[in-house]
Amino acid sequence: MRYYTFGNNFPSGGGGGDRWSGVRFWLTTLLVVWSFSAIGLGWLVNSFFILIGLITVVPVIAFFGLQWWIKRSIVTSDCPVCDTTFNASRSSQFQCPNCGEPLQEQQNKFVRLTPPGTIDVDVQVVE
Ligand SMILES: [Zn+2]
Repeated sequence: MRYYTFGNNFPSGGGGGDRWSGVRFWLTTLLVVWSFSAIGLGWLVNSFFILIGLITVVPVIAFFGLQWWIKRSIVTSDCPVCDTTFNASRSSQFQCPNCGEPLQEQQNKFVRLTPPGTIDVDVQVVE
């Protein structure tokens, strides 16, 4: 079996047919891809490869993204009232598990929802 149908690009005196099986596989793949493209199904090939890529990449991204998201959305700090250290979600308001003070996150620290000294001014525009 020294004759290859795909032309003179490869030396025929090499010996050992297994050597080219990988090349043949990729040539076949290329040929399939090319023929798909030739009959206007390049999008099919593209979406196939995109799908393969997504299947491979998405779980990895999801894994790291989840870790990043957890790190980003969970903050550890002390209660400003009773100094208890605990974790809380960054996005929402929460209560101190020890003293029940309503708190929220602000620049990686817990602050009281209604800090002392805050004056709620109702501004009314009169025209
Ligand atoms: Zn507290």
